[in-house]
Amino acid sequence: MTHRLEELSPFPLEITWHENKTTYLSVKKQGRRICLRLHRLFYDAPTPVLEALVQYALSRDPKARATIRQMAHLHFSHTVVPARALLAAGHIYDLQEIFDRMRTFVPIGEGVSIGWSESRRRGNLRSITFGTFNPHTRQIRIHPILDDAEVPLYFLEYIVYHEMLHALCPSKMDVCGRCKVHTREFREKERQFPRFEEAKRWEKGWNSFFKKRRFSGRS
Ligand SMILES: [Zn+2]
Repeated sequence: MTHRLEELSPFPLEITWHENKTTYLSVKKQGRRICLRLHRLFYDAPTPVLEALVQYALSRDPKARATIRQMAHLHFSHTVVPARALLAAGHIYDLQEIFDRMRTFVPIGEGVSIGWSESRRRGNLRSITFGTFNPHTRQIRIHPILDDAEVPLYFLEYIVYHEMLHALCPSKMDVCGRCKVHTREFREKERQFPRFEEAKRWEKGWNSFFKKRRFSGRS
């Protein structure tokens, strides 16, 4: 079935629909053909958004990009995704305990949960993501590599604190339609973490910590 997008495009389009939230749009040119991988949220998009998609696919037009981002932002901030329950108790650290303690500093309401992420994928540990906050499921996930007696408690507290701030300070759209997650307000609040400097220092020394870990053969 022909989608309206194809009617709007002067070039032949090949469209793949998906539900991957992290990359809601990608464009690849193959000769005269343009391959679009698009999130389903655009399937019933109003014509101006579809036109922006075509415009962006053809010329990476920044105005078109802003329109597309706005629609995606709106969609994701209104979609409630059923959350999978997370496990907060680790071998060494209990995230729920830390979370409850950090509540004194970060007055977030109910409905935010925390747990260890399941991914044991190693990837590049030099640029590892220690924590994430998902605004749709309202879940904080912490990388299980931090469930280690040699990771100081204050560092884990700092990571939890940082993610809790994400639940408190919503991301803002700037004038170009870019989504800013670490706003100035966020950074100011982050510095109020009691052992901020120390935690930052430990983070910098992460490489040497990891090398030692690998040397001792532990995973
Ligand atoms: Zn962050």
